[in-house]
Amino acid sequence: MHPLRIVILLLLLYILYRLLTGERRRPAAERPAASPPEHHDVLVEDPVCHAYVPKGQAVVLREGEVFRYFCSEHCREAFCAHRGEEA
Ligand SMILES: [Zn+2]
Repeated sequence: MHPLRIVILLLLLYILYRLLTGERRRPAAERPAASPPEHHDVLVEDPVCHAYVPKGQAVVLREGEVFRYFCSEHCREAFCAHRGEEA
């Protein structure tokens, strides 16, 4: 058989396969479209109230190379004020 005919045959089989599987549309075969980004799933601990908050929603305080994550602006301010008292 000519190599080109094999390619055409495979292409036709592929189209046939797509038509057959496309009509059925099994939910198990499809991947869930709405999967949240991974960084939202990472939980970080608030050093003030010790609550765990998703990294994407946390209030961030950067101290040089160190990042600190807080549940709210209030906790971040409390942390800064506490550090101010110690120093
Ligand atoms: Zn907090």
